[in-house]
Amino acid sequence: MNYYAGIDIGSTAIKLVVIDEEQNLLGSKVAATGALVEKNSMEAYRQLLTEVGLKESDISYLTTTGYGRKLIQSADETISEITANALGARKMGEEFGVVRTIINIGGQDTKAISLDEHGTVVNFAMNDRCAAGTGRFLDMAARNLEISVEQLGEFHFNAKGTPAAVNATCAVFAESEIIGLLGGGHSREEIVAGVHFSIAKRTIRLTKRVGINDVLYFDGGPALNKGLVAAIEDELGKTLAIPKNPQVTTAFGAALQGQEVHLFELSEEREQA
Ligand code: ADP
Repeated sequence: MNYYAGIDIGSTAIKLVVIDEEQNLLGSKVAATGALVEKNSMEAYRQLLTEVGLKESDISYLTTTGYGRKLIQSADETISEITANALGARKMGEEFGVVRTIINIGGQDTKAISLDEHGTVVNFAMNDRCAAGTGRFLDMAARNLEISVEQLGEFHFNAKGTPAAVNATCAVFAESEIIGLLGGGHSREEIVAGVHFSIAKRTIRLTKRVGINDVLYFDGGPALNKGLVAAIEDELGKTLAIPKNPQVTTAFGAALQGQEVHLFELSEEREQA
């Protein structure tokens, strides 16, 4: 049996997956990127291999992607996040149909990708100015409201009044705005809902630039936040397709690409023999 690994080194989190040759996800892991990027990545990689009962030598191909992808010396291949995200979303999203549009909200940027019916990337847009509408924006909001990012969903659904208007486009300015809203007597729940609707509006504007076609797939860590998902669905009037483990979509796509390259190399070797 051949096994393939994918590592997506994002601005905030390192995501890792191991798949078998039938493209089954054997295991996945999420670790903080931190400052010692290669060390943290390799530690998480070895932990994941132990968890799935494999050794480094069992992995036929290791593919890295994400902003820190070039930092991993032992990688067999590095690919762009857009390619990896498209490959991963198409496969992980199969249960919903053919993925035609991807919204990816990461730690520091938001991307919208449109695919044709064969999965080829046809258009792409990104917003990374001021961490507007990204995971960092959500992390900052949670920190100021003294809750964890995992609680944002619950707070969203418990909002009784109107969502507080959060207008700042920069995460830094939004921080002062949130403090002001707390001082003005808004509940934390109303502020959380306001943050989600503000991110939802901005995300939809970005996605419209590439065209919104079904199946519309949502991934990245913030796709785990059910409050944000509800806000985007409300604003858009459409249902989002979200897999069980949306944060590892891009790492999964990297592993798939590794398998393809490995199979191609094997067939070349056979031809030459
Ligand atoms: P990147 O690839 O840029 O590192 P990720 O796609 O890994 O970004 O997303 C990181 C963000 O995901 C974090 O900043 C955090 O806001 C959000 N996040 C991660 N886990 C959860 C969770 N369980 N619930 C809600 N949000 C989460």
